[in-house]
Amino acid sequence: MIRYSTQNIDQSDIDAVVDALRSGWLTQGPAVEQFEREVAAYCGARHAVAVSSGTAALHVACLSLEFGVGDLLWTSPNTFVASANCALLCGGDVDFVDIDPNTYNLCPDALEQKLEAAESTGQLPTVVMPVHFSGRACDMARIQGLAQRYGFKVIEDASHALGGRTEERRIGACDRSDVAVFSLHAIKSITTGEGGLLLTNTDYTAERARMLRSHGIKRDLAAHDTEAIDPWRYEQPLLGLNYRMTELQAALGLSQLSRLDGFIERRRDLARRYAERFANLPLDTPVSDDGDVSAWHLYPVRFHGGADIRRRVFEYLRKHGIESQVHYYPVHLQPLYRQRGHQPGDFPAAEAYYENVLSLPLHPGLTDSEQDQVVEVLTSFLSAEC
Ligand SMILES: *Cc1c(COP(=O)(O)O)cnc(C)c1O
Repeated sequence: MIRYSTQNIDQSDIDAVVDALRSGWLTQGPAVEQFEREVAAYCGARHAVAVSSGTAALHVACLSLEFGVGDLLWTSPNTFVASANCALLCGGDVDFVDIDPNTYNLCPDALEQKLEAAESTGQLPTVVMPVHFSGRACDMARIQGLAQRYGFKVIEDASHALGGRTEERRIGACDRSDVAVFSLHAIKSITTGEGGLLLTNTDYTAERARMLRSHGIKRDLAAHDTEAIDPWRYEQPLLGLNYRMTELQAALGLSQLSRLDGFIERRRDLARRYAERFANLPLDTPVSDDGDVSAWHLYPVRFHGGADIRRRVFEYLRKHGIESQVHYYPVHLQPLYRQRGHQPGDFPAAEAYYENVLSLPLHPGLTDSEQDQVVEVLTSFLSAEC
């Protein structure tokens, strides 16, 4: 079976985890701190805070920005459910902004129009969460401009995008946002099994995030923080969770981070090979951005023609030993969000996109010959069909 995506683990990763097991630290040790320093340096951000999943990082990001009851978060409907759920977990509310049909990312024009309308009804969002879908950066300059004009905070859901770039910086530099979040799930750019990262340039936000991932407890008590300076005392000024990353995960993360640029390069090569080989087929390949700076987490193609063509391609590929996937069923159409008042037709671009999209195999371990097989099977289906 050719997988649509899978983790890439080599002997150096295995050795790193075994070393961590022998190090005397399973949690709250030096590997997590080193991983945070190296990720922050790689992305060009002041702070990185490691947590137990991307979802935990999104939750902590909202809590760190004091997002809560009475607040409103807007995100893209073309994302994983966690981008929206984090707002509800904080007691806030969620709405969506439709996508750009060319980039599949949250559309800055739609955002601007929705902000104008929301201002007149007094329902402006507290947080806007662009999602760098498939690893391709959103138009952060436009979003930052709107944030300044309308006074909302920006959390980048960069779960697909570690190793990608925006304009002249790496995604995660937070030069145009308050916080950026990465997922380290098995099939993301790099993995720690499960894991997540929150990046920020704001000291206050980073301090809150560090407390919130560990029960809301303050580490490194300064002498003036306690009335009696008892050496065993700790203080809990906030309500937090246990979202800590283990040393085993951080050791794997450090090892994977050293291989990240190679992973992205391979993903880019594969994306270019697909684009060349699909040039004359009746399907839309992802637009490649100037300078090709996407992290290429996914390779979504769109089919032309009948309503069920995507399903038939999916099944034909599967019959020939090739796995594919669909990203994403629009989040506002999930039962939970329908119960909360959303319905078909609310975000037509995201719904139309969903109807005919399919993610083809793309991961650093995919060989040229496996990719050629995918191309061959798809070509034979489409030439018989169209
Ligand atoms: C993977 C992912 C998440 C959640 O990350 P986990 O580490 O699986 O919790 C959130 N948003 C998007 C867009 C993702 O792809």
